[in-house]
Amino acid sequence: MRRRKSVSRAGLGLILLGLGLALAGWAVAGSQTAGRRGAPAASAALQPADWVIAGPIVVTMDPHRRVIHDGAVAIRRDTIVGVGSAASVESRYQPAHRLELRDGVLIPGLINGHTHAAMTLFRGLGDDENLQNWLQDYIFPAEARNVTPAFVREGTRLGMVEMIESGTTTFADMYYFESDIAAVVKQAGMRAVLGETVIGFPAPDNKTPAEAFAYIHRFVAQWRGDSLITPAIAPHAIYTVSGPDLRESAALSRQLGVPLLIHLSETKKEVADSLREHHMTPVAYLDSLGVLAPNLTAAHCVWTDAADLRLLARHDVGCVYNPSSNLKLADGMAPVTQWIAAGVPAGLGTDGAASNNNLDMLRQIYFAAELQKDATMDPTAMPAEQALALATSDGARALHMEKEIGSIEVGKKADLAFLSLDEAHGVPLYNVYSQIVYALEASDVKDVFVAGKPVMLDGRLTTLDVPEILSQARAYGRRVLRSLHVATPSPGH
Ligand SMILES: [Zn+2]
Repeated sequence: MRRRKSVSRAGLGLILLGLGLALAGWAVAGSQTAGRRGAPAASAALQPADWVIAGPIVVTMDPHRRVIHDGAVAIRRDTIVGVGSAASVESRYQPAHRLELRDGVLIPGLINGHTHAAMTLFRGLGDDENLQNWLQDYIFPAEARNVTPAFVREGTRLGMVEMIESGTTTFADMYYFESDIAAVVKQAGMRAVLGETVIGFPAPDNKTPAEAFAYIHRFVAQWRGDSLITPAIAPHAIYTVSGPDLRESAALSRQLGVPLLIHLSETKKEVADSLREHHMTPVAYLDSLGVLAPNLTAAHCVWTDAADLRLLARHDVGCVYNPSSNLKLADGMAPVTQWIAAGVPAGLGTDGAASNNNLDMLRQIYFAAELQKDATMDPTAMPAEQALALATSDGARALHMEKEIGSIEVGKKADLAFLSLDEAHGVPLYNVYSQIVYALEASDVKDVFVAGKPVMLDGRLTTLDVPEILSQARAYGRRVLRSLHVATPSPGH
């Protein structure tokens, strides 16, 4: 365990007993509130807070892009109530729990705008194939033979371990049995937009789109208004869902008031097929069906032209860039700087671990900055600050959640990640954005809060049992191989 740099000890971490943690080597200051009523005169002017996190460089990603050295954040329930210098915040709040974090940066929790968390159990399966072969020969058969409610629960738990450990607090998911996924996400205390798949062939959960629509009614009724879970509808793509079912998905999303998630213009082939079948680009085709709307978030948007981008911007459709997945499947380079110039809300995602092969958003931020420079032959095209925005403030806009998350501001949800700058690759420090984007890595993430609750403290997950999850995942890996009649992994894989 890494040592805590600077910890004040007004009382050891009793507050965490409820989390069932082994706290050896870890300490937090619990300046136990001296009673919310009848507090001592000296603290009468202080407002109560559940947490004060003091000491880090606070990278707010707010509209003024404030960066506060020796900063602090005060949290009450699930919301940020104070942001500023440590001196000013600590003079105003009396926290139940105080966490002092030195030699590091506190950033808004990262937002993974597109993933299939349960597919983490297919990580590395059928690698180095093109998208069509990978889907037809590996993923679809493996899904048909393995995907059950228990499978998606375990896969999502594995995905969440990786996401939390790399600083992600919110993810947008598209998969099957999303009701089961919602239950484990809620248990783990992560925030998620969970899109139940609509697809034109028998899926592991629903055998027809009509069954999927019925499922979605129940799913939305169960989770509507939840503080962490946003139920959503996810028609897979224009090449797997019929026009009438795409139209129905959009109508249902408006009727139920929930977001819509889709894969869009991912490959050249998708665009060529659409031009041949519909005489329109995939974006124009969705427009003709009435699917483009401010509740839609589209993954990929790789092959989008100027007219497509005007349509997407006009309808406030979010686009999510998945650089690793696009690279690995050789889909092409998404014109992200053009999205931004056109006013399309731009987010960032990992895609599923089956096509990436990880859920590390810091790696995506790095790829975004480097690849967009290379694609445009312009080193100023995607500055580090903009790359970080794709995974925070802009990423929140792409999911239409910018009122709740994406920046460290009073009134926003307390979704935060602390990254240590106390490793060789973290020093010296000239520009905090550069450091986060080009130098830091997932292992630097030490503390993560979602909705005001710690889900990782000093490198330890507080809501997920990691050894148990890894052991389950290994067992599922063996089962998946057997189901595909593969005795052992192929050499080199
Ligand atoms: Zn995807």
